[in-house]
Amino acid sequence: MTGPAGVGRRVAVTGGAGFLGSHLCDALLDRGDRVVCVDDLSTGRLANVAHLEDHPGFELALADVARELPVDGHVDAVLHFASAASPPEYLARPLATMAAGSEGTRLGLELAARHGARFLLASTSEIYGDPALHPQPESYWGNVNPTGPRSVYDEAKRFAEALTSAYRRTEGVDTAIVRIFNTYGPRLRPGDGRVVSNFLVQAVEGRPLTVYGDGSQTRSLCFVDDQVAGILALLDSSETGPLNIGNPEEISIGELAGLVLELTGSASGIVHRPLPADDPVRRRPDITEARRRLGWEPVVALADGLARTLDHLIRQEHVAAHPPVGP
Ligand code: UDP
Repeated sequence: MTGPAGVGRRVAVTGGAGFLGSHLCDALLDRGDRVVCVDDLSTGRLANVAHLEDHPGFELALADVARELPVDGHVDAVLHFASAASPPEYLARPLATMAAGSEGTRLGLELAARHGARFLLASTSEIYGDPALHPQPESYWGNVNPTGPRSVYDEAKRFAEALTSAYRRTEGVDTAIVRIFNTYGPRLRPGDGRVVSNFLVQAVEGRPLTVYGDGSQTRSLCFVDDQVAGILALLDSSETGPLNIGNPEEISIGELAGLVLELTGSASGIVHRPLPADDPVRRRPDITEARRRLGWEPVVALADGLARTLDHLIRQEHVAAHPPVGP
């Protein structure tokens, strides 16, 4: 994107009222950029951007980006973050998820093309499916079930990567692709069904933590501030990616449950539930490329990040009003 950060560049953020999108809006505004947040509030929440309502650099457009991208005036960058991201949420809205990844991506690329803006696609570790290679480098092509339930998300994102690459090659759009690994932090919505929000809410409410399967499957959890720093470093660079942004510290879901119980001092036990279809057995980013090309690496330890997430849940959310959901 042209010009240095913090000199009032104008950035469109689709999904800007979502968990990750709203943190990006905050970070962009904090450094002096202006933000047009586009969100249909299907999984995003007005509460995530309510504190920005009176900010002179902030605009909000309520729209479904798979249908329209109502951004008037010049933009210097388009960040396409609109999509359901939690498995229960994308499984509940399969067609909307595919539309956000396909037509939503196309409209974002067209907007960027019209303004000569940089386009940054929020892709995902789900590109790798249930990976046969561990940890996952960007060069790995993945192991995705193309017709399984998770394919509505995985294949939409894979299509979005292909479309972004095609616009780069044939239309000359300045593009970047970030592959986001599991991210957690304040503003995770209680009831979104993700493992961190479910476990924290269950522990606080004194209900058993729902471990799917035997809990031996692994994930690598990145605190949202680290994730945002990585995404902005990519935005400000001339790198095209795809680049993995995530925390390579890997933990089994069973261990995570234990850590949450310890952290919260909760007397909740653990209950096992069936493993969802095609749930990846293990996941850990190889971040060699992000370190080398962006000079970025995560700095927040899991216990610290979980404590900050818990603090936000207790202070800001009515956790009892949103029971966790599962498959
Ligand atoms: N999971 C779990 N209990 C829950 C929610 C999730 O054991 O209440 C497991 C899930 O089966 C997966 C991991 O935690 O193995 C991460 O799930 P999440 O939905 O957060 O994201 P994913 O990485 O699967 O997209």
